[in-house]
Parts: sequence; structure tokens; C-alpha cells
Amino acid sequence: MTTELPPALSADGPVDLLVVGAGVIGLAHAVEAHLRGLSVLVIDRDDRAVGASVRNFGHICITPQDGRALDLAIGGRTRWLELAAKASVPVLECGTLVLARSAAELGVLEEFAERRGSDQVRLLGRADVGRRLAGHDPAVIGGAELPLDLRTDPRRAVAAIAGWLVDQGVEIRRRTTATSFEQGVVRTTRGPIAARKVVVAVGHDVDHLLPDIADEVGLRRCALQMLRVAAPDDLRVVPAVLTGLSMLRYPGLAATSAAPTVRESFGRQAPELLDAVMNLMFTQLDNGDLIIGDTHRYALTHEPFDDEDVADLVLRETARLLGVGGLTVRQRWRGIYADSDQTDFLIKELGADTRVVSVTSGIGMTTSHGLASAVLDDLL
Ligand SMILES: Cc1cc2nc3c(=O)[nH]c(=O)nc-3n(C[C@H](O)[C@H](O)[C@H](O)COP(=O)(O)OP(=O)(O)OC[C@H]3O[C@@H](n4cnc5c(N)ncnc54)[C@H](O)[C@@H]3O)c2cc1C
Repeated sequence: MTTELPPALSADGPVDLLVVGAGVIGLAHAVEAHLRGLSVLVIDRDDRAVGASVRNFGHICITPQDGRALDLAIGGRTRWLELAAKASVPVLECGTLVLARSAAELGVLEEFAERRGSDQVRLLGRADVGRRLAGHDPAVIGGAELPLDLRTDPRRAVAAIAGWLVDQGVEIRRRTTATSFEQGVVRTTRGPIAARKVVVAVGHDVDHLLPDIADEVGLRRCALQMLRVAAPDDLRVVPAVLTGLSMLRYPGLAATSAAPTVRESFGRQAPELLDAVMNLMFTQLDNGDLIIGDTHRYALTHEPFDDEDVADLVLRETARLLGVGGLTVRQRWRGIYADSDQTDFLIKELGADTRVVSVTSGIGMTTSHGLASAVLDDLL
């Protein structure tokens, strides 16, 4: 009886790098390795990307980060722009517009501008805001522009990166699920694959595939309720838009001395927004529709039922922000990402030649390319 070896264990020998997971994190590693001249094979359990990487705002939210996340975000910015030029990935150098609707929120932005300087943060008066966002809440008293930030269309970006990799000769083997890892071999639902190095980038599914590693950083799943709405009055807004609630979320803004006052004021005036852990923000798709959100719930396993009250809250607050009476909903969905209180980035060795990588802070679009470069510097 003869036993045929599966292709990856045949005379061709092992690939230099096997990437498990074809979301933005896995593909960023594939791009980085390919550009370093390695042979790369990517596998994914699905026929196309449907995970966190297509369910997000597409906000490459660089400046509001702090510490390591800021370094990785700045490091990855150039790669996003390169991919826009050579892989037709839709990326806009549009910056972020942060709106302030109270003196405390303006205080956060003033302090942030002072810390970061005018290359990163430019304060805006009310009229400046009006030129960038025609329709808005009359309560807006000013804002800031964060010119380094970028924006992509999350529904097209991952497919465009995957398409470019395939054009470059990188194989993406779909409907192939990794099940276990041994030295030099990854077992999959379609047989073993031999690889010199392995990156496991399965997003929040790391808790199913490698539960002990997930437990080491207290990994849980964060569920977000998201909506796509028609733009009121044909509104066009180029930058991503953040609000006072974003100042409580992103570490660069949340570290200012005025941020606790912003939190107290939400606690007094609209505690339901804090209860929903809302980060009121939006980005615009090419056809004008707005991606709006978001809210956060944390659990190891989530109830399958979304709460319509939470969606109503997002709709109410977005309508108020845009100074309109209501919004037409076109789509609703739930996004899930991996979250940890202990770290923003899970990077674990699984033997000398394998790294398990998951962004555990909801900023994978922003940090993907900087992270891939850092992980491969260490692994190769
Ligand atoms: C609603 C929402 C809004 C967000 N907004 C932003 C934002 O604006 N900016 C930002 O920077 N970040 C944002 N994020 C976070 C960002 O989307 C994620 O950090 C990022 O997409 C994670 O990418 P990933 O490749 O790790 O995961 P995923 O995109 O989920 O990809 C993981 C892939 O692994 C595959 N897989 C899983 N298990 C296996 C297996 N055993 N074998 C083979 N394949 C497997 C899956 O099929 C999937 O394709 C948001 C997230 C959500 C949910």
C-alpha cells in the first residue's frame, strides 16, 4: 500500500512561513514575510474574510494610541500607504476629526495638543469643525484634527490585500482549519502542512484553538453592536469622527488630566452611555453610508441575542451628533474581538518556531502592520 503525502509535505519541502488565519493580522504577517523574500502559505477556515477585520470602522486610529500601540501604529502607517499604492487597498490620508461638546472635552484636546505638538494634533474652532462636518450638533464648541490617522474600507481592504498576495504567488488555502501544532508541522482538517516557521493569527478564536494560551492573558470576547445608516442630507465627511466618549477609550486621550471630568459628566448626564460602554464614532463608506457605533460587552461566551435598546442608543446619539431627527438603518451586525485586561497584544511562543498573535484591545486595523514587522523580527 502506498501513502501519498499531502502537497505541503511532498518533495517541495516545507514553506518558510505558514500563517494560520487570513484576517488583517494574518495577512499583515504574510505581506511582511513575502516582502522579506520568504515562501509563504496562508490557511483560513472560511471561504472569505467574515471576521473582525471586515466588521470594523476601518479607522487606522494612530494618534489616540499611547505607548507600544502608538509605536506599532506609526510603524505600520507606511505599510498601509504602500499597500494603497501597489495593491489598490483603499486607504485615505484623511485624518481624524474629534468633536468637543463641553469645556471638559475641549480641555482634553488642548492638553493632548500640548503633549503631542501640532504635527499630530491641531485644535479647531467651531467654524473649522463646521467646514469639515457640515451637519452637527449645535452643542459642538470645537474640536481637533489628527492628521496622521488613516481610514480604509474594511469591507474591501482585506480582500484587496489577499488578492495582491495571490497575484504575488502567495497561496491562500481556504476552508482549511488548523487543529493542532507540532514541531515543524501544523495539523489541519485537510492534512498536515510542514513549515519552518508558523504564525497563528486566528483573532478571538484563539480561545477555542489554544485555550490555555488564551487563559494566560485572561482573554475574553468583546461584542460590539454596529450599524450602517444612510447619510442624512447627502452629508460628506472625509475624516473618521470621534467624540467625547472616545476620549474615555483611547489611552492617549484618556491619560489627560481632564478626562476624568469628562467621565464624571457622562456619569451625571447620560449614565446609560457608560453602561453600554459606548464609543460614539463613525466613518463614511464610498457610497456615502455611515458606519456607526459602537458599544462593548465582555464575556467568555456571549448570549446570541442583541439588545435593541443598545442599538437605539447608538442611533439616538448619532442622530443628535449630526443634528438630525432620525436615521435610516441599512444594516446591523455584531462584531467580536479578543480582549484582555492584562495586555493589548497577545504574542506567545508555542515552541521555538511558532508565534501565537492576537490583538487584544480592538485596534488590530491600526497596529497590524507594525505588529507583523515586530513579530517577524523576533521569529525569523
Ligand atoms: C465592531 C468592531 C469595530 C472595530 N473597529 C476598529 C477600528 O476602527 N480600527 C481598528 O484598528 N480596529 C478595530 N477593530 C478591531 C479589529 O477589527 C481587530 O483587532 C482585527 O480585525 C483582528 O484581526 P484578526 O485577523 O486577528 O481577526 P479576524 O479578522 O477575526 O480573522 C481571524 C481569521 O482566522 C480564521 N480562523 C479562526 N480559527 C481558525 C483555524 N483554527 N484555522 C484556520 N483559520 C482560522 C478566521 O476564519 C478568520 O478569517 C474593531 C473590531 C470590531 C469587532
